[in-house]
Amino acid sequence: MKQKSIWTEGMTYEITPSLKEDLDVDILIVGGGLAGLMTAYHLKDEKYNIVLIEKDKIGYGITSKTTGKLTYMQGDIYSKIEDIYDFTVAKAYLESQKYAIEKAEQIIEKHQIACNFQKVDSYIFETENNKYLNKERDFLERAKVPYYNQKKLPINFPCADALYTKNTATFHPLKYLSFIKELILKSQIKVYENTVALDLDIKDGKYLIKTKQGNIKTTKLIICTHYPFFRNSWINAFKTSPRTFIRLSC
Ligand SMILES: Cc1cc2nc3c(=O)[nH]c(=O)nc-3n(C[C@H](O)[C@H](O)[C@H](O)COP(=O)(O)OP(=O)(O)OC[C@H]3O[C@@H](n4cnc5c(N)ncnc54)[C@H](O)[C@@H]3O)c2cc1C
Repeated sequence: MKQKSIWTEGMTYEITPSLKEDLDVDILIVGGGLAGLMTAYHLKDEKYNIVLIEKDKIGYGITSKTTGKLTYMQGDIYSKIEDIYDFTVAKAYLESQKYAIEKAEQIIEKHQIACNFQKVDSYIFETENNKYLNKERDFLERAKVPYYNQKKLPINFPCADALYTKNTATFHPLKYLSFIKELILKSQIKVYENTVALDLDIKDGKYLIKTKQGNIKTTKLIICTHYPFFRNSWINAFKTSPRTFIRLSC
């Protein structure tokens, strides 16, 4: 059976040309998923020479394979953060997630993006009682987040204990990103698809990104490739496991 994301169903795609020459820019964004495109969106009205390169097609990395949720409820994330840090850090993470949801809603509203945005409740649940849900409840109470206890889920799935919160949503990530891509293509930002960043170096005080089609020198570099694409001695690539990432970043 061929596995295909539901978000790619019915989507058409016009690919932008790949890089053809060496460039010298102010800001280079590497990676055109949700992170890279939204970075470009927030920079699109700035008077800098900005380029985004994407190794394949914009939005067709992990972003095209997500569950399309915009939620601050992410399993037992808050008790995990508190186990490693403390309440203040877990609360700051919660606020960042709520802010991101509000921001996404504002952007969708502002541009009237047809991306099936829908406000829905977010459930977290466990199939055996009292493994982790009570710790999340305890955090939500201290963080003053209203939640509602349930013993059943709205779908037919095994559940011993559950809770839900409000002000969360679902959306179609590819419809959203293809609209954002069009906005960026109309701005001064140059986008090159099918352009793989192969290596990262420093030359004449600037970052140097090598691709098969040409090299890009840049003053500022924003890496949004989900996983680091480079290995070298002078920069410590972050890890993608939340626990390891949190430990390394302190
Ligand atoms: C199964 C699953 C479900 C998820 N569900 C959700 C969800 O419901 N809600 C949510 O908020 N988050 C979800 N996530 C987290 C999700 O990954 C992020 O929210 C977001 O989609 C990641 O975007 P990104 O831009 O970091 O990564 P990506 O979408 O993967 O974008 C990275 C881009 O960089 C490009 N790239 C990689 N290497 C290079 C290179 N060397 N040169 C040039 N380009 C390169 C890739 O081709 C890709 O397009 C989920 C993750 C997974 C794995």
